[in-house]
Amino acid sequence: MVSKSVRQESSRGRSRSTAARVAGGDAQIAAPRRTETGVGADTFQRFCPVCVGHTLTGVVRFAGTSVGFCPGCQSGVVIEVQPKACQEERAKACHEELAEDYSTRYESELLDSKALTCWDIVRREMCGRLDSKRLLDIGCGQGAFLDVARRAGLRTAGVEIATRAADAAEAKGHQVFRRSAEESFCRSDERFDIITMWDILEHLGRPRLALGNAYGRLSEGGQLFILTPMMGSPYDRWGRRVHRLTGGRCDQLLRMCWDQNHLFRFAREGTRRVLLSVGFTKVSVNPVLLLSLRADKYAGGHLLPHWTGVAGFDRLLSRSGVRLAKLFGLNNKLLIVAAREGADGGV
Ligand SMILES: [Zn+2]
Repeated sequence: MVSKSVRQESSRGRSRSTAARVAGGDAQIAAPRRTETGVGADTFQRFCPVCVGHTLTGVVRFAGTSVGFCPGCQSGVVIEVQPKACQEERAKACHEELAEDYSTRYESELLDSKALTCWDIVRREMCGRLDSKRLLDIGCGQGAFLDVARRAGLRTAGVEIATRAADAAEAKGHQVFRRSAEESFCRSDERFDIITMWDILEHLGRPRLALGNAYGRLSEGGQLFILTPMMGSPYDRWGRRVHRLTGGRCDQLLRMCWDQNHLFRFAREGTRRVLLSVGFTKVSVNPVLLLSLRADKYAGGHLLPHWTGVAGFDRLLSRSGVRLAKLFGLNNKLLIVAAREGADGGV
């Protein structure tokens, strides 16, 4: 369903590693004054690509990754990641390969019930007003969520850049735009009543630009739904604390939160302000506990770091961690619902 692949790297910037994703400002949004987007060099200022207005501070370095924090919108932002087998001159192809690879691994570990859980969110919020609506799932992957939406009577389309996932969604009869969420992915006169971004926003180099694109494709009165990892969750807070207390030796939690595929964690209030500034109205941002992967895949698996290197013990740790998270209600994501105001001022 939710491929982590809908992304595109800015070609600007100087001698940046192909995996360093702090991108320039949003061309569609009035950018504030700034002198340089810093990537991986202390001499550059590093501006937050989410709110495009603050210099990132409190940089934490671990496992070849540097993460900064925005004092404005409170986002956590990957500033630099050591490239993996990427050649700068073939950056775009490389990103598509990364997208393809990540998409394949993600789909193989995805919780089967996630599409239904996401659908419940939409159905509840829309109060049953769903007949013949047109829905766009950005980062649709193989189309698991689109399948559920279509069964409920909606007309479905997806945005997906990973070829194999897009092929699979298309083979099931969904319309698929094979583009990045950060570019014009469909005709400018296309409109959708519902747009969803399930665990996609944190993978995009220019999330504000993607939000602006989603706003532009939403019908008047339409609704946007986003799930994304939450900044300030126990996982990133404990990750930073344990990393500091162990002198950098224990970084597993940090590596679960950030890597070359997870470039951002968004904070509640700052994200709400960003959506309002893009044009959305009636924005609600709420912490939720929602699993994307099977319970035994959080310590290890194909996506996240191994904790002990012993597969059986890692699976046990993983399942125990999920049980504890449910028991104590440890939220891991933000559920964002935002509307594009109708011509009559309603939604
Ligand atoms: Zn910011």
